[in-house]
Amino acid sequence: MFSGHIHRDLRINSYGSYLRHRFGCRVSKVNVDGGFTCPNRDGTKGTGGCIYCDNASFSPDGTTAGIPLERQMAEGMAWHRKRLGSEKFIIYFQKFTNTYAPVKKLRDLYTRALDHPDVVGISVGTRPDALGDDALALLTELARTHYVCVELGLQSMDDAILAWMNRGHGLADYLKTVERVADRGIDICTHLIYGFPGETRSSFLKTTNLISRLPIDSLKIHQLHAVRGTRLAELYERGQYLPIALEEYTTTVCDFLERIPAHVAIQRLYGSAPLDLLVAPAWGLKNNQMWYAIVKELVRRGTWQGCRITGDNLRVSNL
Ligand code: SF4
Repeated sequence: MFSGHIHRDLRINSYGSYLRHRFGCRVSKVNVDGGFTCPNRDGTKGTGGCIYCDNASFSPDGTTAGIPLERQMAEGMAWHRKRLGSEKFIIYFQKFTNTYAPVKKLRDLYTRALDHPDVVGISVGTRPDALGDDALALLTELARTHYVCVELGLQSMDDAILAWMNRGHGLADYLKTVERVADRGIDICTHLIYGFPGETRSSFLKTTNLISRLPIDSLKIHQLHAVRGTRLAELYERGQYLPIALEEYTTTVCDFLERIPAHVAIQRLYGSAPLDLLVAPAWGLKNNQMWYAIVKELVRRGTWQGCRITGDNLRVSNL
């Protein structure tokens, strides 16, 4: 018997269903570029960035920050309205570190996003070591009247792996930030990656214990993949990075989901990159095929998100 907010067909608590429950209509995230940079590239925390970070996206040609926020929003909302029939929107400040700026700039961007009548909230992607007290106070204030989600990139709970990827922060930074953000009316999303060299399935699955005991509202998971122009792509070309196989990823993610509490909404289950930029692994599956490869495996097993956790008896969703 399913437990939690589990979609009967998808076998997980999908973020789309979560948003539909929360707002009563179809809600889409619209990505915008607020013109931020990253402390792991400018020398404040580190240089060179994370090993998988797409350098091309840092070039002037690869940024849309020159386009006014309102125009980015209008174009994104029009696309989602037409393609998916979405009625409301969450503006997602995704590119780079979206709390890494003076709070005056943050207030200007966030409030301009929230001013649109069809915008129900914002989602702000950041590093665990880049959320200052003033930014947190601003997000807390905005969360009194709107949906506010802070997306924290943890990627791995193993400090040795974090050091390998030149992440520039450790697990302790993440734990401290989760504690600071908790109980402020702000949702917390955590980003994780599976497939680092030397990482084992059992070590990755230990992350489920961490997530289960923290006030995490949603998760994004994806495979480690190399895109052109990154140091990870260089390692791949030199034979120093061996990508994981699709079957290994799919089965591990299913093992992972079975151990994640049903109240945690799943925002993402795989990573995607434009085919002309993707170096490895090249699984040859389209985005929805990746998603359904995982769902099909859960169906084959007869399992679902949280099924290995006892005492997790939230309600069933049939959306
Ligand atoms: S924290 Fe994000 S933006 Fe900064 S280097 Fe790493 S992946 Fe790139």
